[in-house]
Amino acid sequence: MEALEPHIDALTMEIHHDRHHKAYVDNLNKAIAGNAALEAKPLDALIKDLATVPDNIRGPVRNNGGGHWNHSFFWKLLAPKAGGAPTGKLADTINASFGSFADFQAKFEAAGIGRFGSGWAWLVSHGGKLEIVSTANQDNPLMGKSLSGCEGKPLLGVDVWEHAYYLKYQNKRADYLKAVWNVINWNEVAKGL
Ligand code: MN
Repeated sequence: MEALEPHIDALTMEIHHDRHHKAYVDNLNKAIAGNAALEAKPLDALIKDLATVPDNIRGPVRNNGGGHWNHSFFWKLLAPKAGGAPTGKLADTINASFGSFADFQAKFEAAGIGRFGSGWAWLVSHGGKLEIVSTANQDNPLMGKSLSGCEGKPLLGVDVWEHAYYLKYQNKRADYLKAVWNVINWNEVAKGL
């Protein structure tokens, strides 16, 4: 849990992974318990097809299914001794989409800072190009535009809920967003291309 120090502190990682993420998993399982079709569905499909989830559990499945997907994705993107700048095709695509890596970073940080309350900042691939978007709560671009306000395939997602940074950064979300760059594994991000 201290692997990402000093950028993300051990206590935040422990509480975030063992309590917050676990609660999403537990509450998702509780919501779909007894519905064999939903229990058998892969998580990706579950959050892409929320319209097919019965009305009475759609809210909990959206929040907790999204929470489970988003956190599982986020952990994979983080690594000690990572950071730096992307290379190869990902670097070329970022430069073509945003002008430069620095411009991309500034725009991504602005998306995270601009998300009022809790949510996520995303880099998505959509219609053959890269875009920066943000979602509220545990929504995900895969849920589609009508629910999440955006669409596309996530390549990078950064949690901007206060629980992701408050112990170390308090109200300074911007400082957290700058620090996160030091632990992003660009090889993992590039897998989404
Ligand atoms: Mn979180």
